[in-house]
Amino acid sequence: MALPLPLAGVVGWPVAHSLSPLMMDQWLAATQCDGRYCAFAIKPEDFSRIIKTLPDMGVVGVNVTLPHKEAALHMADSLSDRAKAVGAVNVLTFKDGHIRGDNSDVIGIETALAPVTHRDLPALVLGAGGAARAALTALKSLGFTNIRLSNRTLERAEDLAKALAPEAQIFQWHDQNALAECGLIINATSMGLKGDHPLNLDFKNIHPQASVFDMVYNPLKTQLLTDAEAAGLNTIDGLEMLIGQARPAFEAFFGVKPVEPKDLSVRQTLVAALGL
Ligand code: NAP
Repeated sequence: MALPLPLAGVVGWPVAHSLSPLMMDQWLAATQCDGRYCAFAIKPEDFSRIIKTLPDMGVVGVNVTLPHKEAALHMADSLSDRAKAVGAVNVLTFKDGHIRGDNSDVIGIETALAPVTHRDLPALVLGAGGAARAALTALKSLGFTNIRLSNRTLERAEDLAKALAPEAQIFQWHDQNALAECGLIINATSMGLKGDHPLNLDFKNIHPQASVFDMVYNPLKTQLLTDAEAAGLNTIDGLEMLIGQARPAFEAFFGVKPVEPKDLSVRQTLVAALGL
């Protein structure tokens, strides 16, 4: 009897908007891998019960999206160092009755920030949620030494710094001094999402060769990136992180490294799917 195809997926609630199936299908075709990838809509109250049944159905692993990243942390039998550091899990793999939790958002951020060279200049992280936690972990692993943090709810920024970067300087929300001489700004808040208010930052005191990275990818060119471009700064959009975090997950599920499709790149496919 033939072995079942390796099956993987993304779990979330809601999940229909997820771009993961599109990315994974492209890589499955390009690597000629006999696997399948689907979206599983799982309500928060059903999460642990359904996750436990997935391995018996031939599922080798799942990407985990909102609102399950914290529940996934508690379900895992073991955690990667990255997942431990961030305190959230976005990839679960199942093997021999064991559930392993990882956080590939950190790799996604490292990939997005790879072109940023001024790592001795201050790097400002806006936000204090899961994405900001992953950003702090990535900044440390990339060798950024001068970290600043600002969040609408100040206490959350203070708690985050205490947990992950005690040396970070904390700034009040909207304090423009946070930008002075910065070589990098990361928007890890949900500000800038379609229909939301943009972040209004004043770039006049920023380093002239600074980079601005917005994790939001819908819209792809947020007002923040438009303003940064107009100020002559380097810009990095959220798709770089999205694709960067998906690559290691694909390899963990299907055992091969993803390769870029020959005709249309994964990025081009996602840009088209976003209607841009
Ligand atoms: P989260 O845990 O819910 O955190 C949301 C953050 O946004 C908090 O810091 C919150 O501040 C802040 N925020 C929300 N509304 C705000 C407002 N009106 N004004 C100022 N700050 C506001 O979310 P997350 O998981 O960290 O995700 C954050 C962003 O990263 C989202 O846009 C998400 O789509 C994006 N993301 C992108 C990728 C990618 O692959 N590109 C991956 C993961 C996440 P308070 O603490 O004050 O509430």
